[in-house]
Amino acid sequence: MIVVCAWCQAEGRPSFVAEREPYQDQTLTHTACPQHREALYEELKRLDEGSDAA
Ligand SMILES: [Zn+2]
Repeated sequence: MIVVCAWCQAEGRPSFVAEREPYQDQTLTHTACPQHREALYEELKRLDEGSDAA
């Protein structure tokens, strides 16, 4: 299984994250890379804090 970051892929950036067993199976599986996981976490945190924007 080829693990790719769905967000990197959407942005057209290199999206490869890791390879997982079974290695002969080249099926793509999606996750968030560490950078995007962090970005998503920050985004959720920001949304959670409510509206201090504008
Ligand atoms: Zn990513």
